[in-house]
Amino acid sequence: MPATILVVGAGMVGVSCALELQRRGHEVLLVDRLGVGEETSSGNAGLLSYGTITPLASPNLLPRLHRLALNREVDFELHYPHLPALLPWLLRFLLRCRRDVFLADGEAMAALVLPSIETHRQWIDLAGAGDLLNPVGALKLYRCARSYDRDALERELLDRCGLGYRRIDAARIAELEPDIEPLFVAGLEVDATVSLRDPRALCRAYADLHRDAGGSFERAAVEAIAPHGRGWQARYPGGSFDAEHLVVCLGAWTPALLAPLGYRNPLAIERGYHMMLAPVAGRRLRRAVFDSDVGYVIAPMAAGLRVTTGTNLVARETGPTPRQLERVLPRVREAFPVGAELLPQAWMGRRPTVPDSLPLVGPAPHHPGLWLAFAHAHMGFTLGPISGRIVADGIDGLAPAPAWRACRPERYL
Ligand SMILES: Cc1cc2nc3c(=O)[nH]c(=O)nc-3n(C[C@H](O)[C@H](O)[C@H](O)COP(=O)(O)OP(=O)(O)OC[C@H]3O[C@@H](n4cnc5c(N)ncnc54)[C@H](O)[C@@H]3O)c2cc1C
Repeated sequence: MPATILVVGAGMVGVSCALELQRRGHEVLLVDRLGVGEETSSGNAGLLSYGTITPLASPNLLPRLHRLALNREVDFELHYPHLPALLPWLLRFLLRCRRDVFLADGEAMAALVLPSIETHRQWIDLAGAGDLLNPVGALKLYRCARSYDRDALERELLDRCGLGYRRIDAARIAELEPDIEPLFVAGLEVDATVSLRDPRALCRAYADLHRDAGGSFERAAVEAIAPHGRGWQARYPGGSFDAEHLVVCLGAWTPALLAPLGYRNPLAIERGYHMMLAPVAGRRLRRAVFDSDVGYVIAPMAAGLRVTTGTNLVARETGPTPRQLERVLPRVREAFPVGAELLPQAWMGRRPTVPDSLPLVGPAPHHPGLWLAFAHAHMGFTLGPISGRIVADGIDGLAPAPAWRACRPERYL
């Protein structure tokens, strides 16, 4: 039976939920306080990647723990005034830094990533957005062989998930990327990874598909949600929307809307920054590269070369603290042909994360008709379409696929 559905939040996750539901015949209103894909979904590294199924909680972190705690590593920075508030999350996270847990969480992630990328490919075709795809994939590069060996567990996970990859040496790296400096001694090429030249443009292309299928979009800042009659109501300054089902896809802003319903905040917010850099004439980066010894991604995009940073754990209300970017950029310049900075200041995004790195997608535990899709951490751009399928299956009354049960919201709410 077609239902009226309100999807709040028009990042990649909300747009994907709206599109999937509208394509199944429901009547879907998508709402965002800004436009489509304006927040975290605009400034990410744009990877749709099989190679990044690795959970953040890894036994590989343990030997680095003292350096991480002292903020000595470039890919991680903790703002110490935030530590007391973060402690319960951090303890649960550290307890997951075990080989068996790592492999189980990684396999659960792979079961989401594989069908999600498949749906991305179909939607990209449908939207005629193939020009946004950079089909040559991505590389993970290592500055020393020891670092490559250290990642053996990650390759064991890829093996378990049946994902193809190759170790490449310095000569092959030079063949694939002749314009980067010969600093890297080893690399990992994971099959069928692609990247986007403009992540925000892909969100907009999917929103156009949603509109073409009969869906609508409104701009409004939702202040509160509550059960209303046989459905739900979302209130914004000056009005309200009613619908039979409400899907909340507000990324890092989700807990504030759920708190009055009695749901506690399960999230750490990992900030990430990016800077756009001008390409250098006559030198080119063909594919996205993850410099694993330093901890950043550099990705060729329509508007230049985008450098994104790792994890910055800071209280939500603290202003931007892009020190990681300042530390990363000199390391980028020693390896890649890059020119001037193209933005007046660093872009900042928010990755809401729970300790097992899997998103929270499915029915709200205590409220029929309320659906959640958030906490996508480092993978929300990739996982948009599968989030839409899980929510739509639930609303359509289909039994949840066993492989997708790993992301049910009640595990943290
Ligand atoms: C530096 C960086 C690099 C990344 N690289 C990748 C990558 O390569 N591949 C990948 O898969 N993922 C990547 N990610 C993660 C990915 O970007 C996110 O997981 C994803 O964008 C989350 O999408 P979302 O729709 O949940 O949230 P968002 O894109 O943050 O959308 C939330 C929306 O809610 C809206 N909103 C908030 N409050 C309200 C309100 N009260 N009323 C109405 N609307 C509201 C906001 O305006 C926003 O549009 C990266 C993230 C960062 C920060």
